Parts: sequence; C-alpha cells; structure tokens
Amino acid sequence: MLGLMQEWPLLVHKIIDHASLYHGDREVVTRTTEGPMARTDYRTLARRARQLADALDKRGVANGDRLGTLAWNSARHMECWFGIAGIGAVVHTLNPRLFPEQLAWIINHAQDRMLFFDITFAELVAELVPHLKSVETYVALTDRDHLPQNIPHLVAYEDLIAEGSGDFAWKEFDEHTACGLCYTSGTTGNPKGVLYSHRSNVLHAMMACATDTLGLSCRDTILPVVPMFHANAWSIAHAGPMVGAKLVMPGPKLDGKSLCELFNGEQVTMTAAVPTVWMAALQYLEQSGERFSHLKRVVIGGAAAPQAMIEVFEKKYGVEVVHAWGMTELSPIGTVGTPTAKVAAQPYERQLDYKVRQGRPPFGLEAKIVDGDGRELPRDGKAAGRLKVRGPAVAKAYFQGDGPSAFDADGWFDTGDVATLDGDGYMTITDRAKDVIKSGGEWISSIAIENIAVGHPAVAEAAVIAVGHPKWGERPLLVVVPKPGRTVAKADILAHLAGRIAKWWMPDEIVFVEALPHTATGKIQKVALRERFADYRLPG
Ligand code: ADP
Repeated sequence: MLGLMQEWPLLVHKIIDHASLYHGDREVVTRTTEGPMARTDYRTLARRARQLADALDKRGVANGDRLGTLAWNSARHMECWFGIAGIGAVVHTLNPRLFPEQLAWIINHAQDRMLFFDITFAELVAELVPHLKSVETYVALTDRDHLPQNIPHLVAYEDLIAEGSGDFAWKEFDEHTACGLCYTSGTTGNPKGVLYSHRSNVLHAMMACATDTLGLSCRDTILPVVPMFHANAWSIAHAGPMVGAKLVMPGPKLDGKSLCELFNGEQVTMTAAVPTVWMAALQYLEQSGERFSHLKRVVIGGAAAPQAMIEVFEKKYGVEVVHAWGMTELSPIGTVGTPTAKVAAQPYERQLDYKVRQGRPPFGLEAKIVDGDGRELPRDGKAAGRLKVRGPAVAKAYFQGDGPSAFDADGWFDTGDVATLDGDGYMTITDRAKDVIKSGGEWISSIAIENIAVGHPAVAEAAVIAVGHPKWGERPLLVVVPKPGRTVAKADILAHLAGRIAKWWMPDEIVFVEALPHTATGKIQKVALRERFADYRLPG
C-alpha cells in the first residue's frame, strides 16, 4: 500500500522562492569585483534569478545544457545558480585556481554552452577562448560600463537579465534532473565530474541546516569564505536561503584583513573555510590585535583542522570550532564534529580529543571502514581502513562515466580516505590512501604528525611524506615551514613530538622549506612534494 501524501518535487529553486516569500528583506551583501559593497535581499535576488531564467529560455538554453561559472561568492553568482537550475539547465562551477589548460579541458569535457565570469577573470577567459570548443556566449558578471575588451560573443550580465521577466514561471521537471556539475581536482588522472541533482542538493541542504550539522538559523549572518566553486560552498548558498540567514559574500578578497572587516562590519555570526584561510586570518588578528565582535561558530574542513588552530579560536577568541570532513562527491558534507551529549559533559581538555576528529555522520550518510579485501572493520576507534559511504547526496557515478570505478555494485562509494570509526560514529581521517606511510607493514598517519607539528609555536605549516627506507620500506620525512621571522631547530620539533606520538612514528628527518605547494582547493599538494623529494636519501 502506498502512502497518500503529496508529490512535491525537491527542486532547488523552491529554496529561493521560500526565502523570497518568508525572508524577503533578509540581506545578501557582496564585496563586488568592481570594488564597492553591494546590498540586495532575497526578494530581489529571486526576481533577478527568474529574469535570468527567462532570458536563457528565450535564448534557447534547454533542459540539461551545461553553463559554466567562473566566479567568486556573490549575489549575482547565486542568481546564476537558481536561475540556471530553474529551467532545468546545469550550473557548472569552475575553480579559477586551476591551470588554464585544466580549465579548458574541463569546459570542453562538460561541453558548456555559456560561460559566466567575474571581471577579475577577464584575462584568464581571453586566454581560454581560443581553446574552448562549445562555448557560444560569454557573460561578464557586471554591467555595460565594466565590460572587458578582447572577448568575443560577449554580453554584460545586467543586459542579459534585462531580456527576461521577473514574473517568469519556473519550468517543471523531475526532481532527479541534474542541476549542478563540479569537477574534483584530479590529483591523479583527469578531473572527474560530479553531477548533482535537484533532489540531492535539496536533501543535502536540509541535512546541512540541522542543529548538529551546520546549525543554521534565520537569525544567523553567514560569511561563506569557502568558494561556491569549491564543492558547493559546503551547501551554504542553498542552506542559507533555506533558513533565511543573512549572507555576506566576500567576493575576491579572502585575505585576513578584508575578511575581518566583513566579520565585524556585517556582524557575522557563522563562517566556514579551509585551514589555510584560517592560518592567514589568525596571523592577521595576532598582528593587528583585532578581535571578532559577533562571530560564534566557525566550520573548518577540506583538510584536517590542527588542534593548535582549534584552541586559538576557542580559547583566545571564544569562537566555537566545528570540524567537518567532506568531498565534492558527497555534495560535500560528510561528517561533522558537533559534540554528543556524552562528549559535551566532559572537561574541555578531554573534549579537544574529539574536536580534532572529523566528526560524525548526520542522518543521510552511512559510513563504514573496510580492509584490503573489502571486509568491514570494527568500529572500535583503533582499526583503520578505507572509508566507504553511501546516501542520497553521494555520487553514484562520474559524469560521462569517466575515471576508474570508485563505486561498488552495492552502492558504496570508496572515498579514497583511510579512517577509524568509533562506537558513536566519531571518525578520524588518518590519511588519503595514496598518502599513507607504510613502515614495516604498519601504517603511520601523516595527518596526526602534521597536526602536532603545527602546534609548535614557531611552525607555520607542516607536511609528512613517505621516503624509501632499506629496512622498513618507507619512513616519515617531516617538511616544515617556520613562521615568518622565526627560526626553529630540528631538536626542538622532535622534543615537541616526543611523547605525543608513538616512538616508531617519529620522523626520521626534518627539512625546512620556505613554502609548501597547495592544490586549487587549498590542500597541501603531497604529490608535488613527493616529486620534489623523490631523490631524497635519509641520512645514514
Ligand atoms: P579535491 O580537493 O581533491 O577536489 P575535495 O575538495 O572534494 O577534493 O576534497 C576531499 C578530500 O579532502 C577528502 O577525501 C579528504 O582527503 C580531504 N579532507 C576533507 N576534509 C578533511 C578533514 N576535515 N580532515 C582531513 N582531510 C579532509
């Protein structure tokens, strides 16, 4: 017997309709690429999204067409997300930090028909144009006065939306229709496209809003530092309007000073970014002596949040840290570190042991760890294995079926991460499978060593990689970037690590460098680092 409840397709543009109707005057503030701050609200944003949808419809954009965006977080970028999705077309977010050849490859692979871009990327786009095979129209996200030169088939966004009506009626289609496309950076092989559906994005945004996930409210003012081109801005561009929170979009300026201006000037209560952003922002606060005026909660993910960083936020600035883990393939939120009742009842120093872990799955994500033969490992907080997940916002295949299959017949997705799980679901990522260090047949967690190393007051950043060893197979090499103006001796760092990690985990050598290579999503680029130290021989 079937239930007798209504069909109400989960379509992402219903989110902006809801925001427009019930939170219509809630603001969306943008630091624009043209320079000044721009203020709009959900009512206006929703109307302009419909204008865009109508204009695209009139220009013949069809259901399933891919339209690229090369843009910072802004109200206009949000209008593109909702307007494009509202006619059944697909928003393809592009990461401008990729090399031009990679971008051209991705745009051609996705066969984007249009490319929306911020004027800060005009030169990059001009360089790409001769290599793009499918793009028919370029849309500069600006008005006619700021239109760049040297780009063919160009229209200003404000002129484009003027072709459409704000009363346009959204198209009707199935909730499984694709609405977003995002390629993972592809540190090995070509990038792989993750194709989100309306249903998966709406369900994921509902998961994201929940108190023990991002805990969003209409009383929040949220500043997503995490870009909309990096795994859906961790859902905030959907979840924010879903609850009616005020949004503060930082545009192109993500340095510590510019961010702090917005945090305090706009009375931001909640924010989210990768650890490398916070490294710079915290350094700015330390130097300037400024403090956060209204910030209550910061979500840190995309790479492991070191304990030292968590403590500075919480102890010095009184800002709660929520450590999260996710992936593009997961829409992207996977696990979140809000404390259980049991953990919250413990003394702070003990809670810290849990805060450094990557958190627990919210409803909608199943997780398990398996050994080399695919057998499930115990949830005892000790056994480490390959992490597999499934859920309604997890990819089941890559766009156009590319890439080696990471998808099991029974619906589990192999994350490529190695982790432990405990009885309450607390997960600790020990490594990416390709980064683990195998010493004498046992695994050493590079992430654990890095986290402790950056807790040393003179260390800015640290990375651990495997180097060959005649007896043990591999041993850890610790690569350290000292803080500006500081020097630190090898012995000091070894003394700092001693007692905090097992003796056999101690790095065999420490080398000091000026900077570490980073990926387009702000992670330490271990592949490049291993190449750099490919000929390295341990002393003795
Ligand atoms: P990419 O940067 O390769 O495109 P994603 O941005 O989707 O891919 O990154 C996903 C990966 O980032 C995860 O598989 C994991 O290795 C790493 N990651 C994300 N969050 C965390 C975290 N909190 N701690 C450790 N690693 C993390």
